[in-house]
Amino acid sequence: MTTIPHFVNGQRKEGEGTLPVFNPATGEVRAHVPVPDPAFVDDVVASARAAWATWRSSTLSQRTNILFTFRQLLVEHADELAALITAEHGKTLADAHGEIARGLENVEYACGLTEHLKGGFSAQVADGVDVHSLREPLGVVAAITPFNFPIMVPLWMTANALATGNAVVLKPSERDPSVSVRLGELLGQAGLPNGVFNVLQGNATTVTQLLEHPGVDAVSFVGSTPVARHVYESGIAHGKRVQALGGAKNHMVVLGDADLDVAADAAINAGFGSAGERCMAISVVVCVGDVADELVAKIAERIDALTVGPGDDPASDFGPVITAEHRDRVVNYVANAPAEGITIVRDGTALAERDGFFVGPCLLDGVRPGTATYDNEIFGPVLGVARVATYEEAVTLINSNPYGNGTAIFTRDGNAARRFSRDVTVGMIGINVPIPVPIASYSFGGWKNSLFGHAHIYGPEGFAFYTRAKVITTRWPQASESQIDLGFPRTR
Ligand code: NAD
Repeated sequence: MTTIPHFVNGQRKEGEGTLPVFNPATGEVRAHVPVPDPAFVDDVVASARAAWATWRSSTLSQRTNILFTFRQLLVEHADELAALITAEHGKTLADAHGEIARGLENVEYACGLTEHLKGGFSAQVADGVDVHSLREPLGVVAAITPFNFPIMVPLWMTANALATGNAVVLKPSERDPSVSVRLGELLGQAGLPNGVFNVLQGNATTVTQLLEHPGVDAVSFVGSTPVARHVYESGIAHGKRVQALGGAKNHMVVLGDADLDVAADAAINAGFGSAGERCMAISVVVCVGDVADELVAKIAERIDALTVGPGDDPASDFGPVITAEHRDRVVNYVANAPAEGITIVRDGTALAERDGFFVGPCLLDGVRPGTATYDNEIFGPVLGVARVATYEEAVTLINSNPYGNGTAIFTRDGNAARRFSRDVTVGMIGINVPIPVPIASYSFGGWKNSLFGHAHIYGPEGFAFYTRAKVITTRWPQASESQIDLGFPRTR
């Protein structure tokens, strides 16, 4: 049985594989991954710190060249990387390629680091005095990532953290950790000095060590809300800069004037793509007025045409969920829904009998606050339908929800769409776009329980998060000039 190694100081480092990594399409264990002991964690952080001492002073053109080459290597290895993702995560190969493409965008954005790191300069703020600002790297960044985007989320963090001159210790999800090791190798091939990027395998215990480690300066975390909150609080208590992105419950509002075929297609793509295991997946379709019956029928009709199967079968629309426990949890939500007055319009739970961790598409009509299928992030192929009478009720529903990652509205009314984008307390909004993940030159982040900390991830806020400001005020005295002035400095 294979053990998935760490990647430290430019090399694979074997450990004792204790945690199973499954192929979710078969249910078989395909490898094991180690949980390092505290001394190993110390060694990895020390190696990153040592490498940072030089990397922080690398030239901007050196970093740009490495990132350009890395981008090219990712393109050349896309098939291999996608196959690794599918083997451990279960998503379709097409979806794995999509994830790589969205990750690549972040590398491309980071390639513009010379522009993004430009400081400011103000000449003659007082007589003979100039001021300029610059941003410097923080040091060692711990990047802690979830299972559902095993290459995209590491690239959200890594591209910008390296571009800004930091060293990185990536702690990937223990469910699908192989592709991170390949990221390390490709970065090395691109010319990144040893130790600047490291992969530390492990689990919650490993994360705790990183959060408490004096050699870690900043933490970028993406995962579930309870863990995000804990990571934020613990990281801050240990003096680190932290951004912690959490879970979601994303609503898609459909107004009476919407094109219901377009809305039904969007609900299918955003609800069931990647088996619903996306933080920007739509989990509740909010039907306003009398659109519900017709829309539910259209969604149900499309569900009947979906094929669920292994991710490496081109016929599959979506693959399995990540583990047997998660599959059982999803099945339980659906099984318990009728007791809460919810109608099961389509029930895909029979697929749980197959080998592997499959759940078919489920459609639940009548979800509402106070029911388990509404109140919890299910993170599976379960789409809920909520029925409300008015636009105002739809907005109240969204704004009362403790999550605020993404939301969408489907309408032909530009004014209603514009008003919606201003009314909702959510970080990312789609207008006739069901999964509004911002391109890499904007930043990604939710509100409320979907993000702890102030900085959104990647894009301009990513560059700001991984750097701190210095402002330098300069005056060159004339040769014979000398004065003592105990007053507070003024610019006039
Ligand atoms: P998770 O919270 O279980 O794990 C995320 C990471 O935290 C992993 O590396 C894991 O090893 C570590 N971890 C787990 N338990 C921990 C603990 N008690 N203490 C410290 N570290 C711990 O999340 P997951 O199941 O891998 O991913 C799915 C979740 O991530 C969903 O809730 C999804 O919405 C969320 N997510 C959010 C975003 C976003 O951008 N907001 C993006 C992707 C996924």
